[in-house]
Amino acid sequence: MSPAIVNIAYLVAASLFIFGLKGLTHPRTAVRGNMLGALGMLLAIVVTLLDKSIVGYGVIFAGIVIGGGIGAVLAVRIQMTAMPQLVAIYNGFGGAASVLVAGAALFEIMVAGDASPIPLDAQFSIATFASGLIGAVTFSGSLVAFGKLQGLTNEGSVRYPGDQIVKIALAIVLVIFGVLMVQYAGSSAPYWLMVLVALVIGVLVVIPIGGADMPVVVALLNSFSGLAAAATGFILYNTVLIVAGTLVGASGLILTMIMCKAMNRSLLNVIFGTFTVVDDGPSADEVYAGKVKSTSPEEVAMLLSGAKRVVVVPGYGMAVAQAQHAVRELFDILEEHDITMEFGVHPVAGRMPGHMNVLLAEADIPYDRLKDMDEINPSFKQIDCTIVIGANDVVNPVARTDPDSPIAGMPILDVDYSKTVVVIKRSLSPGFAGIPNPLFAADNTLMLFGDGKKMVEEMVKCVKEELG
Ligand code: NDP
Repeated sequence: MSPAIVNIAYLVAASLFIFGLKGLTHPRTAVRGNMLGALGMLLAIVVTLLDKSIVGYGVIFAGIVIGGGIGAVLAVRIQMTAMPQLVAIYNGFGGAASVLVAGAALFEIMVAGDASPIPLDAQFSIATFASGLIGAVTFSGSLVAFGKLQGLTNEGSVRYPGDQIVKIALAIVLVIFGVLMVQYAGSSAPYWLMVLVALVIGVLVVIPIGGADMPVVVALLNSFSGLAAAATGFILYNTVLIVAGTLVGASGLILTMIMCKAMNRSLLNVIFGTFTVVDDGPSADEVYAGKVKSTSPEEVAMLLSGAKRVVVVPGYGMAVAQAQHAVRELFDILEEHDITMEFGVHPVAGRMPGHMNVLLAEADIPYDRLKDMDEINPSFKQIDCTIVIGANDVVNPVARTDPDSPIAGMPILDVDYSKTVVVIKRSLSPGFAGIPNPLFAADNTLMLFGDGKKMVEEMVKCVKEELG
């Protein structure tokens, strides 16, 4: 295929990626954006396959069938609540692919020598180093993140004395292997040794990160997987891989910064700092004993029928209960009776970025009713009733009041300022950060204990009876 045609096709594919990303910035255009991105990827793959005939089509077809088959089964079977783990493992596979492609290119050069289509120059050495390093860190780091999110390993922060020094020492070893790679260009030993050290670094960088910092690390690893792919693009002289990898790297980094802002943390602090419980804080008994008031769906329905403005704050429990459609019913009936209902969405509510937006969009909640934290927070004092459905950490006032708490400084939704707060959850057990929540014992809070979906459905029934 002529290089001009290949480059034009790659340019079209890159444009489709960019328009796709633009579409993904708003729920109304997100599906179209996704399709555009997928179309761009299809075009890039078809053109690359037609252009390069190094590998037989049989092998490529087998790869597509096996990889596509596993991906399809995972996509169908995965629970919405397990998405962060899935994203983490996908990031890891992306990193591993970059390590293997860089290793294979090196092997090809060693075997083919001067006949190799890939020149053994400075670009090749630097790109191989970057691809192997970032890919290996992404792979092992993502496996640790997967283990933490899946509950297979300690979910909290794991630290040991002198951990930063060990990491610095390993980083120096990495640089040495990098120099050896240039000095002994064409030999694969320094490359694989460097990959080995990078794998260890990936584990060491992610194990101290725990608790509420996990969303940030998953976003960061996503960015790394893109950067590793971009480096691989420089090895293979494949422009579309460079563009796609850079887009993933840049968008992942932007998402990481947004998440850091949402947690009130700097990126360096997430990676090198501690986010452990400095002080165990008061026990659940001290916080709750004798102060928690429970309520019933009937009582909440009475409250709602007398309200003018209601806010729903969804959290991880709404995803577990799949309560979004019942919430939509509640929305419809309240709006029919001129009671305004809005949604306060915290950037890290749930278990993945945009988790709540996806669920609420799935239930066709009008998008203009979804309010970001900064937008809704000043209104809480005027809200008659806030219904918290399966959210815990993102509404925990301890973030504002206790500088030693694991979520200290994390901006929260100030639901405790509303006139009445109804919290729907099954028990008083803690959320992701593992700490008690004084909101549940506040004077203006009523606890509606039960499964999120069941409780909202019962509330809908009672509100219908109440409002006629
Ligand atoms: P939390 O994890 O703080 O709390 C969720 C609450 O939901 C639990 O207390 C649980 O209480 C309740 N719950 C579980 N199942 C049900 C059910 N069926 N019906 C009703 N309630 C239920 O969630 P938040 O959304 O408030 O906060 C998210 C946390 O997750 C933050 O700490 C964030 O940092 C972290 N995180 C976020 C990620 C992201 O990208 N968004 C990724 C990884 C972590 P009970 O068992 O009593 O019902």
